[in-house]
Amino acid sequence: MGKPLLQFNDCGIYCAAGNFYIDPWKPVDDAVITHAHSDHARWGNKRYLAHHLSREVLKYRLGTDIQLQTVEYGERIQKNGVTISFHPAGHIIGSAQVRVEHKGEVWVVSGDYKLEDDGLSTPFEPVKCHTFISECTFGMPVYKWKDPSLVHQDINDWWRLNASEGRATVIAGYSLGKAQRIMHHLDLSIGNIFLHGVIANTHEALERNGIKLPAATRITPEVSKDEFKTGIIICPPSALGSPWIKRFQPFAFGYCSGWMALRGAKRRMAADRGFVLSDHADWDGLIKAIDATGCECVCLTHGYTASFSRYLSERGYNAHEAHTYYGGDEATEEDELPVEVLNEQGGVIGGTSNESEEVL
Ligand SMILES: [Zn+2]
Ligand SMILES: [Zn+2]
Repeated sequence: MGKPLLQFNDCGIYCAAGNFYIDPWKPVDDAVITHAHSDHARWGNKRYLAHHLSREVLKYRLGTDIQLQTVEYGERIQKNGVTISFHPAGHIIGSAQVRVEHKGEVWVVSGDYKLEDDGLSTPFEPVKCHTFISECTFGMPVYKWKDPSLVHQDINDWWRLNASEGRATVIAGYSLGKAQRIMHHLDLSIGNIFLHGVIANTHEALERNGIKLPAATRITPEVSKDEFKTGIIICPPSALGSPWIKRFQPFAFGYCSGWMALRGAKRRMAADRGFVLSDHADWDGLIKAIDATGCECVCLTHGYTASFSRYLSERGYNAHEAHTYYGGDEATEEDELPVEVLNEQGGVIGGTSNESEEVL
C-alpha cells in the first residue's frame, strides 16, 4: 500500500503525488482553493488555483498581486501526473468541489456545499469518487432547511411590514454568499437596497467578475436618513452592536443563518427575526450528497464530525474525522456566536480554530 492520495498535515490537505495543497491553512507553494471564504482561501500562498468566478473576490481579499490561475468547471489540470478538476459545489458563487485523480484512484474534496439552487451559484453536481472529504457543518438531524423560496418570501413580508410602519429593515448575513443571496430575492417594489461597506466591496468585486446583481447603494454619510425608512440594509454579522448600526434607528433587525434553526439563537443574537437560510447542506442534504458520490470512504472536516462519522459508519461507510482549521465562514462570517449557541444545545463544533476571519 502506497501513501493515501490526500493526507492531512500541518499545512492542510496535501497531495504528495502532485505536490499541492487544497485549501491550506498555512502558507504553501501550490494552493488549490475550493472557494473564496476566508477559512479556505488564506493569505500567503505562492500560487493559487481557483475557479474563474472566484478571481475578483480573491484579489480583493488577498491582494491584487497574488499569483492566481483560474479554471472553468470540468477543465482538467495536470500537476506532476495528478489530474485536478473543479466541479460545482453550489455553496457560493465560484465555489467548487475539487476532484483529484491519480493512477485510477479518485478523491473529491467537497469544500463547503449545499444542494439547493440559490439562483446565483452554479448548482451542486455529485462527482463519483472512491474517497469523499466532506464538510458536515450541519451534520445533525435537527438541521432541516425549509424551502428557501419560503424564507425569501418571509424576508420580503417582514420588510414590507417594516416599511409600511416607517421603520428601517436591517438584515445580517455574511458578506460573500449570503448577502448576495438575500439581495437576489428581494422584492424591489418595496424599497431600495443599501449595503454596508464590506458587502458593497464584495458586490463590486463580483460585478467585475461579470456577475449581475441588483442595484444597491453603498452606505455613506451622504445618504439621507429618510431613505433608510423604506429601505433594506444588508450588513455582515460583525456590524451588530457597533455604533454604525445606530444611524438606522428606528429599525428592525433580522439575522439570516443556518444556526437560526437552533432554539435560543435568535435571542442570543438579539435579533427581532431569525431566518433559517444556509449555504451549507442540512442533514438530509449531506447524506444525499455523500450517497451520490458512490464512495467507500468518507473523511469529515468541519462540523459535527464525531457523531456524523459514527452515523456514516453504521450505514456501512468507512468514515472518520479529520482535524482541520475550517469553519470560519459559519463560525464567524455567518455567525458571531455559534459556539455559545451550540454549547447551549449540548452540541459540539469541530475544528480547533475559531479565529475571526471577517474581512474589513
Ligand atoms: Zn464557505
Ligand atoms: Zn467552510
